[in-house]
Amino acid sequence: MTIDNETLFYLQVVYISASVFVIFVLYLALASQRSKSIKLLQEKNRSLTEQLHAVKRLSPDVQAENMSKMFTTLIRDIERLNQDRDKNKDLIEEKVNKLHALREESAQLRNQMELARESLDDIVCPYCGAPMSTQVFYTESGHAGSVELEPEGDYVSYECGLVMNIKDGREMEPCGAFLTVDENT
Ligand SMILES: [Zn+2]
Repeated sequence: MTIDNETLFYLQVVYISASVFVIFVLYLALASQRSKSIKLLQEKNRSLTEQLHAVKRLSPDVQAENMSKMFTTLIRDIERLNQDRDKNKDLIEEKVNKLHALREESAQLRNQMELARESLDDIVCPYCGAPMSTQVFYTESGHAGSVELEPEGDYVSYECGLVMNIKDGREMEPCGAFLTVDENT
């Protein structure tokens, strides 16, 4: 054991804390999106709900807080054991193995966070992040803004103005967030 390991452990604690913060923010955003679009997101909402449940099951905030405490405890134990390294060799190895297991858990948390992020990507404008406003299943020709929609298309619109064909991703109306107004024409 060297001082480098100690530094690594502290970095891991910091990493876990940061991960918890990010997943918490994502979680709030998902919950907010979910309440806005709940009637419109029948298919997507089902998978989103499943993923939210998965996040809840893992209780990432609680889990990572516990992991953070365990890291701290293990670090202290190893520091203490290091004072008589030869005598405590086996114990130190055991503690280090526990730290490795904790690192595995932190990787799982990170995967969960990625899943949450992907879900969020599906229900916001890919350009500006505006929330989805409506999802419409046309059985006859209709209009979205100035665009005539094709019959039996499935379209989704976002609050920024983007209207997209769900099936092929064609954009019927552009994202309005980056439109420049030219008053001279
Ligand atoms: Zn947009």
